[in-house]
Amino acid sequence: MSNNHTGSDRANSNSTDGHHGRTRWVMGNWKMNPLRKEAIQLADALATGLSKQTAQPLCQLAVFPVALHTLEIETILHESPIELGCQDVSVHRGLGASTGELSAELLKDAGAQWVLVGHSERRSQQGESEALLSAKLKAALESGLNAVLCVGETLSEREAGRAEAVVAEQLTAQLVALADRFDAQRVVVAYEPVWAIGTGKSASPEDAQAMHAFIRQLLEKHRADLKTVSVLYGGSVKPDNAGLLASCPDIDGALVGGASLKAADFLAIARAFSG
Ligand code: PEP
Repeated sequence: MSNNHTGSDRANSNSTDGHHGRTRWVMGNWKMNPLRKEAIQLADALATGLSKQTAQPLCQLAVFPVALHTLEIETILHESPIELGCQDVSVHRGLGASTGELSAELLKDAGAQWVLVGHSERRSQQGESEALLSAKLKAALESGLNAVLCVGETLSEREAGRAEAVVAEQLTAQLVALADRFDAQRVVVAYEPVWAIGTGKSASPEDAQAMHAFIRQLLEKHRADLKTVSVLYGGSVKPDNAGLLASCPDIDGALVGGASLKAADFLAIARAFSG
């Protein structure tokens, strides 16, 4: 399977150049979108767009479609370098009596390599606690899936001057719960200020860079080799603001929601984070 890259493939690709050995990623979270026919068209457009992309090798790419569409999207992206993820994973392992749940083993079996954990929509809409997120992270990593851990403060937390404290609490809770049983190449952190998600109001490059530098310090302080963990920015990333965000030294890529539903926009953002 051509999109089954390893950490060392990535380390050898040009997607780490200039970023101190950190892999640059642009990832698309399709959320609860779109209907099956449009999802197929979107995956087709991404595969076609990438096959025409000759001028400049792109950074690493991944998309997170609706779980129900994983198998079909995997078939379309099979020959492309785009990796595939799911937006959630069960804490229940393997197969068994867990009605409605999707275990990491089932997701892997459908072709997923990645899973999102801690997205703010799941924290707020499903009330996911740090303890539940730890169980999900462990289930994913121990089953061989890679994980994107999302962290970020709300507007009221930022206005109260607590943005760094909130992000530190979220990140540290998971680093401690994982108890060092993970490989730095298999975890990506996404800083997503809640007030910037789906609002059209991105964090300024200065504010995003400051938080990314802070996250990087926390990672490195926790375990020296975590300095190679990629830290992505998420929150209203579009083709027209991607260039400035990409120029920040501690921003290694983007987790993109709305703009990932248009192949041309997603690929334009990928180009901004490449080369
Ligand atoms: C997201 O859902 O992770 C996200 C960043 O969404 P948007 O790009 O639409 O703000």
